[in-house]
Amino acid sequence: MRDRSKFRVMVVDLGLRKGHIQEFEGRDTHVGGTGLASLLYDKFGLFHEPWDHPDQPFILATGPLTGLFPLMSKTVSAFRSPYHDQYTESHAGGRSALAIRYSGLDAIVITGRAERLTCVVIGQGRLEFKDADYLRDFDVLKTGKIVRSMLSSSRGHRSILRIGPAGERLSSFACVNADTYRHFGRMGAGAVWGAKNLKALAILGGDGPLIHASREFRDLYRSIHDMVTTKEMLKKYHDLGTPANLKKLNELKSLPWRNLQQTSSPEIDSISGERFAESYLLRNMACAGCPVGCVHIGYVREKFKQDHRYFFRQVAYDYEPIFAVGTMLEVTDPADTLRIMDEVEKVGLDVMSTGVALAWATEALEKGIITLEETMEPLSFGDGSAYIKAVWHLGLGANRFYSLLAKGTMAAAKEYGGEDFACVLGQEMAGYATGEVFFASQSNSFRHSHLDAGAYSYDQKHAERDLQAALDFLIQDECKRTLLNSMVVCLFARAVYTDEVLADCLDAAGFQEISRSMDSLGKDITGYRWQTRFRTGYEPGTVKIPRRFLEIETWKGKIDEPFLERLRSAYANRLKELYSE
Ligand code: SF4
Repeated sequence: MRDRSKFRVMVVDLGLRKGHIQEFEGRDTHVGGTGLASLLYDKFGLFHEPWDHPDQPFILATGPLTGLFPLMSKTVSAFRSPYHDQYTESHAGGRSALAIRYSGLDAIVITGRAERLTCVVIGQGRLEFKDADYLRDFDVLKTGKIVRSMLSSSRGHRSILRIGPAGERLSSFACVNADTYRHFGRMGAGAVWGAKNLKALAILGGDGPLIHASREFRDLYRSIHDMVTTKEMLKKYHDLGTPANLKKLNELKSLPWRNLQQTSSPEIDSISGERFAESYLLRNMACAGCPVGCVHIGYVREKFKQDHRYFFRQVAYDYEPIFAVGTMLEVTDPADTLRIMDEVEKVGLDVMSTGVALAWATEALEKGIITLEETMEPLSFGDGSAYIKAVWHLGLGANRFYSLLAKGTMAAAKEYGGEDFACVLGQEMAGYATGEVFFASQSNSFRHSHLDAGAYSYDQKHAERDLQAALDFLIQDECKRTLLNSMVVCLFARAVYTDEVLADCLDAAGFQEISRSMDSLGKDITGYRWQTRFRTGYEPGTVKIPRRFLEIETWKGKIDEPFLERLRSAYANRLKELYSE
């Protein structure tokens, strides 16, 4: 068994078609995952060069407990984003974390730019560069199929990451697809691959034991396994899954509809989690190393044009995609929403940004700010067939309008008008119109993500507008999540992995030094990654909240604009005080 006190990293140079394994100190201070990613960006990142400079790194990092305990299943990707040209992260499940770990690695760093589209294969003692130019313009699903067939003889933990046409065209909304049903979705990871001419990355891990498991270790594993498979909190993720939130948020007047013109609708029953489960759920599946299986795979029935036979398409659905291409576009037929998701998947876009961008375009068309010449389709809320075509226009940057929209909804709104109703909080909104704390959080936070802190949940429990309490919550919750994201555990299991359980796991796996300093590590690593972002140019407080967010009503009543503005600005100031150098 190898010495795990050091990070073992595969460093690949696409331009030179070479790679080597390098070891780094820093396990006790940076732990892994998000902490390791910031350490590696510090070593490999070009702080004064743009996101598409060939030597900018793309980083994949796992945690010290990856593969050792249930739901230690996620990978952190880190890169400089085409969206705002600053350091960022995007996290994904699937199989990449275990494949990296079973390759004997903690992380992968990819630098350089290949001359032609390339597929990289990494495994134990294996690094290959395969020409993939013939895959140009191949969609994500076909690309996955071809790469899988190239590697059909491999055994063990295998992960296949790839981009679609949107990534090749450097769209800021382009994602990296992870094992078909998961994604490094937000902030344009797919464009970074496109700029590197990296079409696919196959990680081939082995399958031997990761550590010598003592009896105590096995007992601890079993007790956590029991908790995650019997606790009510995780059961809900398996049953209806996150789409259970649709009805709940609609009742709380917190579900964005029609480009956030409404926060609830009587139409909810046609597109609720229950409706998907009753009529469209085919099966559940899970990320590698997870016994919960929250990934819901739905199906749509289609007809072959040639012989009129029927076939099924399998499409993964969650709360976020249903919000983005369902309620936000007022498409209330679940089959239509699954069809739109399927096209988003194929072209390789982030579904949340796509839905929000198309919702803005629809309202802009209604208001006459843009015309059919720009949208190319008669976009209209509820019309799934027009959106299916528009997804491809957006992914391919089919005209000047779509090319600009693919740089971000606000980029298009700045040129054409309509900034007031662009639902953007640092990036296109996540599906939580819960109130002031969430809006202040997403607009300022590290990834501009709903997962940076549990602000959407705070809004659902707190009617009072207490600035200090909200501010303290945002700062403290981020530090807790940063520690979990350094492990890198699925955040659905955050109630299971309490500090005590996490400390037991770290001790059992031989990371006593980390378990002893967990309190300070959460804060320290939060600081490292913020400093990395600040060094690439971020200024908290510069993201303004568009008018549309101030016009809505939630279960707490009308948005309190002065409170929101005070919280947004106090949060920005606190981030600067705490973390800027
Ligand atoms: S709960 Fe869901 S997202 Fe989390 S690790 Fe398991 S399958 Fe993946």
